[in-house]
Amino acid sequence: MIENGEALLEGRHVTKRFGGLVAVNNIDFVVRQGEMVGLIGPNGSGKTTLFDCLSRVQPIDEGQVLFKGIDITAKKPHQVAHLGMARTFQVIRVYRKLTVLENLLVSRQWRGESLFGQLTRANVDLEDRARELIEFVALSHLVDSPAGTLSGGQRRLLEIGMALMPDPDLLLLDEAASGVNPTLVETIKDRIRVLNQDHGKTFLLVEHDMRFISDLCSRVYVLNYGERLAEGTPAEVMKSEAVIEAYFGA
Ligand code: ADP
Ligand code: MG
Repeated sequence: MIENGEALLEGRHVTKRFGGLVAVNNIDFVVRQGEMVGLIGPNGSGKTTLFDCLSRVQPIDEGQVLFKGIDITAKKPHQVAHLGMARTFQVIRVYRKLTVLENLLVSRQWRGESLFGQLTRANVDLEDRARELIEFVALSHLVDSPAGTLSGGQRRLLEIGMALMPDPDLLLLDEAASGVNPTLVETIKDRIRVLNQDHGKTFLLVEHDMRFISDLCSRVYVLNYGERLAEGTPAEVMKSEAVIEAYFGA
């Protein structure tokens, strides 16, 4: 059990290259248990690639990632998920033809079991949990609707619900508010807050909307061209000359 304030996720000199391009360059960072940390930076600065490295979707070229004190640098995505890390994707990944409920039921990682096996498994506990989470993400009225019929914001909420199914300790959300109408942005923010404050979930959030970041996060890392440009409170980094220049040019 990691105590509040102790390192939950730690990156040491994390480097990821695509051919000659260094997408993530020698990044050091720490996310502590109970924190909500922002990861910001201009388009193409390496935020999604860093998430891919952390959730082990991409191999890391150099450096080390520790989760709960365990070196996960060489682990597989499902092993990291099993340890309690969940993520969502910038490009929404839901099964469009499956209903909201079915999407949650298949999002739990069952070792080697087929999709059909998962759907037909008579697991009342699992369905109860799925329905609870659907209520939590404010989608109860759409429980039997195909995910493809949901709005962008509703799909983002569905993805958060799916990420919560295995009861992770850490959630990495990649642009959870992008393409979402302002009302649902508030719902998403509120749900994240409740998860953090009442359920002890730790968050690392990639988001373009600085309001979203400053409303939720106590600390922010800023990336630029794959490098760590700044770290501090949202107010501090927004005042930083280097950050302003990276976003708006000299
Ligand atoms: P961000 O999420 O901050 O917008 P990305 O991590 O998506 O940035 O991209 C960082 C850089 O890496 C960009 O220059 C992008 O073009 C490049 N990149 C990302 N993924 C790949 C890939 N699979 N192959 C080659 N280059 C990639
Ligand atoms: Mg991205």
